[in-house]
Amino acid sequence: MNTAAWDACPRCQRPPAPNGSGAVACTACGLSPSPLPRLWWSDADTTPEGFDAASADRLTDLATQDHFWMRERARLVARLLDRMAATRGAPWQHALELGCGSGGSLPLLEARARRVVAVDGHRRLLQQAQAGSNTTVLVQGDVTDTRLGAHQHDLVMALDVIEHVDGHAFLTEARRLAQPGADLLLSAPAFPSLWSEMDVMAGHRCRYRWRQMQQELERSGWRPVGHTHFQCLLFPLVYASRHWPGRTARKAERQPSRRLDRWLGAVNRFEVNWLSPLSLPFGSSLFVWARAVAP
Ligand SMILES: [Zn+2]
Repeated sequence: MNTAAWDACPRCQRPPAPNGSGAVACTACGLSPSPLPRLWWSDADTTPEGFDAASADRLTDLATQDHFWMRERARLVARLLDRMAATRGAPWQHALELGCGSGGSLPLLEARARRVVAVDGHRRLLQQAQAGSNTTVLVQGDVTDTRLGAHQHDLVMALDVIEHVDGHAFLTEARRLAQPGADLLLSAPAFPSLWSEMDVMAGHRCRYRWRQMQQELERSGWRPVGHTHFQCLLFPLVYASRHWPGRTARKAERQPSRRLDRWLGAVNRFEVNWLSPLSLPFGSSLFVWARAVAP
């Protein structure tokens, strides 16, 4: 295994050295190697506004309880990545995940790219991501200002991240990090009509419509190639759940019984298996793939 990737600062490619206060850190940017391999800490607060420790906990709960949305979303991501790779005709060299959270998607990238770097603002989520990945270099950072080297990556992925931050700043940073012609795979909560307390709890700034996302991408140096929605078949149920009086329906959606989870998962699985080649016109999540336009 190539250890050089975490012997040097992933931003500056310099070996860390003891600084004035006795800590070991990159002398150029201040990033310091954590006690865990491949994981680098920032000295600045990198938590997005509105996505606090409680939001991070809820995300971890979804990931660890094997939730029907998370589970089938991963299968859709794998399919979309394979479709993008087939169009590209060559494997990816340097993949980047912005906002990797607890790292559930990193194995998908490690299987498809020679090197993977992942950025997230939360230390605890990064520690989980480190434990669940094999080769990914993990960097604590602000996803709208990672300070990683420009034009290094031929694949950038960000799953349900853009809604937590300034969309234009995020897509501009993603474009800065991407090589010309690089691929982007993005997902976001869809349809403002689904806005509910669940978005507030998750720290979302907005839910996206395709046209709005298309304009944001084009304004930031990306050419949209395709898009689809996820949880299209469950959309009426999700709509009802989000608008049902009281909290029972939303709680059932967030923490379903095993039987309900199996049933909803089966609907999503059917959708991913049979309908994912189509561009589904609605759903609770928007998926977009795009190419970096040459400057
Ligand atoms: Zn550095």
